[in-house]
Amino acid sequence: MTNSTHKSKIRELYKTQRSALSPTQCRQAGLRILKHLQKLPTQHPLCLYSSIQNEVDLQDVRDWAIKMNREIYYPRLGSDKMDFFQLTSADHLVPGKWTKEPTGSRRLDKLTNAIVLVPGLAFSMDGHRLGFGKGYYDNFFLDFPNLIRLGIAYDFQICISSWAPEPHDQQMDYTLTPSSIWGGRGLLQHPII
Ligand code: ADP
Ligand code: MG
Repeated sequence: MTNSTHKSKIRELYKTQRSALSPTQCRQAGLRILKHLQKLPTQHPLCLYSSIQNEVDLQDVRDWAIKMNREIYYPRLGSDKMDFFQLTSADHLVPGKWTKEPTGSRRLDKLTNAIVLVPGLAFSMDGHRLGFGKGYYDNFFLDFPNLIRLGIAYDFQICISSWAPEPHDQQMDYTLTPSSIWGGRGLLQHPII
């Protein structure tokens, strides 16, 4: 079996597990992720995501960030890549190709010191990520190599990696789950976020 076939099989397994969650469980997980985020320094802009298919729901993170006047950004898909645009009000998210996307025109600056919250289907204990299989975040981080990357996962999505990370796969700095923080690239690059 090729590595990409193997990755696809693992994706299906985790999609099935995640599909059993209720909206309340998705939101509760987001609230516990918010508790971790509230312990981080406040000067970093945050790149969030609009959840689909039972991903950890970050609506309470978004509402907290807006209330605290934090600069926040959401992804928007172009024809072949993903970029982040600023969001100033929850009303400014509208249905896009897959997720709700921001209507704003202020694009994330290359020099920003943002923290990016990265959804995924599974994460290894050292920050290797299985996404939806389109490589959008891998390619985004090639363009923005210095941003701090935080995988966002349910506890059951942390696993011993049985897939081989590929050269293009971008490692997370840390992965946050409701009950833990897992190290990755960040233990060397961002020992204190
Ligand atoms: P995901 O990160 O969403 O889990 P993959 O890492 O499996 O997805 O990438 C999906 C596809 O895109 C793969 O076929 C991979 O080879 C290709 N790909 C992604 N990023 C790059 C890149 N920077 N260079 C070359 N191919 C890439
Ligand atoms: Mg990848």
